[in-house]
Amino acid sequence: PSTSLGTNGAALDHLSDFPAIPAGWAYLDTAATAQKPRPVIAAIDAAYAQTYATVHRGVYARSADMTLAYEAARRRVAGFIGAASENEIVFVRGATEGINLVAQSWGLSHLKPGDRVLLSMLEHHSNIVPWQLIQERTGIVIDACPLTEDGRIDLDAAEAMLTPAHKLVALAHVSNVLGSILDVKRAAKLAHAVGAKLLLDGCQAVPRLPVNVGEIGCDFYVFSGHKLYGPTGIGVLWARAEFLDAMPPWQGGGAMIDRVSFSGTTYAPPPARFEAGTPHIVGTLGLHAAIDYVEAIGLPAIHAHETALVTAAREMLGAQNSVRLFGPDDSAGIVSFAIEGVHPHDIGTILDENQVAIRAGHHCAQPLMEHLGVPATARASFGVYNNLKDVERLAAGIERVARIFG
Ligand code: PMP
Repeated sequence: PSTSLGTNGAALDHLSDFPAIPAGWAYLDTAATAQKPRPVIAAIDAAYAQTYATVHRGVYARSADMTLAYEAARRRVAGFIGAASENEIVFVRGATEGINLVAQSWGLSHLKPGDRVLLSMLEHHSNIVPWQLIQERTGIVIDACPLTEDGRIDLDAAEAMLTPAHKLVALAHVSNVLGSILDVKRAAKLAHAVGAKLLLDGCQAVPRLPVNVGEIGCDFYVFSGHKLYGPTGIGVLWARAEFLDAMPPWQGGGAMIDRVSFSGTTYAPPPARFEAGTPHIVGTLGLHAAIDYVEAIGLPAIHAHETALVTAAREMLGAQNSVRLFGPDDSAGIVSFAIEGVHPHDIGTILDENQVAIRAGHHCAQPLMEHLGVPATARASFGVYNNLKDVERLAAGIERVARIFG
């Protein structure tokens, strides 16, 4: 079956690559986590069923091979996001752990009382709370950049807010609620103009847009594998080599040391310094397969496909009187909405009866909910397996919700 979006040429048809999506089910929760394509499942299965062993320590061939595969995954990630070297890639559990690593290691060693960190009103809790933990320990000040009326981080406001006291700007590349895309190159220029570093939370960007950290000019970039069609439990922190070199370890244990003795321990160079303990070996192989999968389709094609679905969804939902749409029209793969007088949880429950899976809630972005003046939103988010039929099913479900609630 071909997924036709009409004349825009953005059609992708990859539904059959995803065995966990049954016929007739519209999975519209990719922003929470993406379904897994067969090549990713096969890579994980082969690793556990055929080639499994530990990395780093083994002298036997199987372990040496697994170490090569682990390091090949690191190189693959480096190429995928345009890192200058694979040594700039630290494997972590996910974006949450990546941001906590930067906060605990870079933050605690670089931030002093009175220093400022600029976040935005639309950040995910994982890019707010780690900085509040640092605030409690160091006395830094946290500022929140406001949003434009259509739900973008207002970089004009950021420019006016930034001062030499700002040491870090940490922003979402793409909002997990509104889908709004940040002008990341401008954000880098603004941060660097006052001597601050720029951290980007790329969770929702990496599955939807081509990302090149060198071209962006940022200093830290984090993302999670499971939103990129890869497994859970594996994610990436990229940081410029000079920063990683100067950062102290944040967790101690095996694999991160140079030499351990009771008279003093020395640490391995990055990235090993930040990968204490046995890593999620098979997770990195799954991530490698996921990157191969999305690059074979092409991120420009994925972005065009999701943009066409967003446009269709905004048109169909926007045509219904009771629906309030949030975010800009050019959102990347994500549409948040509300229906007057209906709690988003009820929308989600009724849509589920129609075989449409959406997310309802605060999406780990409570400051944004407060800013929008709602307790929660309903959110539909798209991936390479979605097509226009899913959008039509969503729109039909929303009509039913409106009928039920009169
Ligand atoms: N940032 C954004 C923008 C997200 O969408 C998410 C996941 N919802 C996270 C951070 C946290 O990712 P994880 O839970 O995989 O660590």
